Formats: sequence, C-alpha cells, structure tokens
Amino acid sequence: MNRPTRPPAFDRRHLLAIADLDPAEIAVLLDRADGYVDVNRQPEKKSARLRGRTVINLFFENSTRTRTSFELAGKRLGADTINMSVGSSSIKKGETLIDTAMTLNAMHPDVLVVRHPESGAVKLLSEKVEAAVINAGDGSHEHPTQALLDALTIRRRCGRLDGLVVAICGDILHSRVARSNIHLLNIMGASVRVVAPPTLLPMAIERLGVEVHHDMKSGLAEADIVMMLRLQLERMQGSYVPSTREYFRFYGLDSEKLAVAKPGALIMHPGPMNRGVEIDSAVADDIDRSVILDQVELGVAVRMACLDLLTPKIEATE
Ligand code: ASP
Repeated sequence: MNRPTRPPAFDRRHLLAIADLDPAEIAVLLDRADGYVDVNRQPEKKSARLRGRTVINLFFENSTRTRTSFELAGKRLGADTINMSVGSSSIKKGETLIDTAMTLNAMHPDVLVVRHPESGAVKLLSEKVEAAVINAGDGSHEHPTQALLDALTIRRRCGRLDGLVVAICGDILHSRVARSNIHLLNIMGASVRVVAPPTLLPMAIERLGVEVHHDMKSGLAEADIVMMLRLQLERMQGSYVPSTREYFRFYGLDSEKLAVAKPGALIMHPGPMNRGVEIDSAVADDIDRSVILDQVELGVAVRMACLDLLTPKIEATE
C-alpha cells in the first residue's frame, strides 16, 4: 500500500499564517530553505522531489515576483506548475471563490498557491479543497512566505533572529508583509518597532507586541534591521499622506535617517519599491547594506521549502 507521510516536525496541511506557527516549525522551514539556497546556486538546479505533482498558482491579484518565485520553486522541484491569474479566470464571469476552488480541486492538484485581495479568503478556500494551500498574500492580513524569506535573509547575515532590533517602517496599515513579519520576529525573539504616521498604523497595533514610533529618528535609533514598506496606494481610498514628496521628507529612508541605526544595519524592502517615496535610491542600492536582492534570491529557496514540506511523501508500506 502507498501511504502519504508528512515530516513530524512540520505536520501541517496548509501554510496560511505565520501567527499559527511555533518557533520549532519556523526553524524547520528556515533550515530546509537554507539547504535549497545552495542548490539554487548550482548550474543544475532541478530535483525530482515533486516529480508527478501538480502545483497551481491561483492569483486573484497582480503579482510579479511572488508568482515567478513560486513558479520557479515548483519547477526546480520537478512539479508541473500552472499559473492561473484573475484576468483569465471565470471569476470575471461571476463564478464565486468557492466554485473556483471546487473546480480546481476536481483536477487533483497537490498544492494550490493562492493570492487574494480579501483578508481571510485563502483560509476559506483551504477549507473546501483537498490540496495543500499556501497563502501567497491575502488582503492586508498575512504573506507568510515573505516573512520567512525575510527571516532567512536576516538569519544568514546576522547568524540569528533573537535579540535583534527590527524597525518596520511605512504603510503598516495596508501591509500583510508587516503583519507576517511582526508575528514571526516576535515568535523568534526579536524586538519589533513600527515607524509610521498615525494615519498608516492600524488601531491598537501595540497589542501585536510592537513598540510604536511616529518619528524615524527615534524608531531607527540603534536598530539592527531597517525594513521599509511600499506605500500601498492601490489599497487607499482617500488620502493618507499629504503628498508623496512630503512623505519622503519625513518617512523616506535616506542616508541621513539611516545614520542613527547601528553601523552596518541591514536595509530591507519586500518590493516593488517606490524609489524616492519610501526609499532613496542611494540606500536601496548600497551594496554593503541593502539586502533587497538577497531577499528575492532567498524567496525561491523558501518557497521550495514550503512546497517540499507541505507535499506528503508517498511511502510504500506492507
Ligand atoms: N509584494 C508585497 C505584497 O504582495 C509587498 C507590496 O506589494 O508592497 O504584499
């Protein structure tokens, strides 16, 4: 008989939110991803781990880097990887999220990687399908693989996560990246500060275990990591900031504001960047301190680890 088995250290059907995970599970994901970083640097990157398996990238919201990253991750593990984007889907014709999920489920995919503009939609979908579901970003709720790749980037540069001071700056209100990172960094023992104007902070954000700053100089003081976020103009109705020029003056990262952070503090951004709005090109491109392209590189390894750990191995039993 063939019995599907999951690794005991990561015995989950889906990856929906960092808030669900414990430190050991996060460590397992990061360790597995670490191994794939070296594989991805070889000329021959392909393995057979997911040969014969099907991964569907189901994106109800635009994406370039996350979708490409998952696609490469699936292909490097030998899976058949298919992309479905909202433009070509039946959603435009009025099909509900659940109908789409049931239709895809009937085709027996092994993994569904789902991005959706509504918070909670990916979890809802995961309750209706047999495939493993990976949340590739749901509204302003969570983006777990982004937080994992950020953590791997920090861990590889600093050797640890615990005890570090991380300043997450900018549009926290609309950012699923911020939420996933706040959870992960807290779970792994880092101290998290959020730095933003009051209009771009969710109510009662301090309940998530962060220190709140409205001023870049106090928020960045002695920080080990400075993580900048994009102003998510597409999620804003009305105006949250007086103008992007004004925003850059007070909250855009430039070398002057960065000077108060620890010497050698790392600069991060999940992309896509608005240069001259939340970050100055000189710091974004600083080869000694900016790890923005490392984040992109390690993203593929993290997604390989997630696909690997969530796809049960088929073991022959008596
Ligand atoms: N790419 C990230 C996300 O999908 C960040 C951003 O779009 O600003 O949430």
